[in-house]
Amino acid sequence: MINATHDNGQGQSPKSLMCPSWCVEHLSGDEGLDSELLLHRSEEFTAAGGYVTQLERADLVHRSIGATNVLINDLELTPWEAMALAGVLATTAAKADSDGETIIRTMDLPAGNDYVVMRDCNIIGLSSRLDEAGRRRALAEAVAR
Ligand SMILES: [Zn+2]
Repeated sequence: MINATHDNGQGQSPKSLMCPSWCVEHLSGDEGLDSELLLHRSEEFTAAGGYVTQLERADLVHRSIGATNVLINDLELTPWEAMALAGVLATTAAKADSDGETIIRTMDLPAGNDYVVMRDCNIIGLSSRLDEAGRRRALAEAVAR
């Protein structure tokens, strides 16, 4: 385990030009890195599937503040790339049927009926009255039944 310290730029270890607000861990030359380098790391966020994300910024000690990156397991992305990836992942996943066989259709349903499940033919019908958020909620309810 890496020795974690956090001084927020004001403590006993004035190696940093300034700590970002999300910094909870520093890695520096003391941990075997280049002595000029100071890494700031955020807390880790864990998602289903074993994906761990974390913010990281590499500063050159007393010289320059580095760019902030988003780490996804061993992948390093800019914040812009991470947001673009999140969007395309959501878009791609939304195109998948819930179990690969169920057909999801928008249809006109009586008011008050947000969805209908026709198990015999593997069709889930979502009310055409719903907006995108409503369709997602109704689909989650229908699948959970
Ligand atoms: Zn820091």
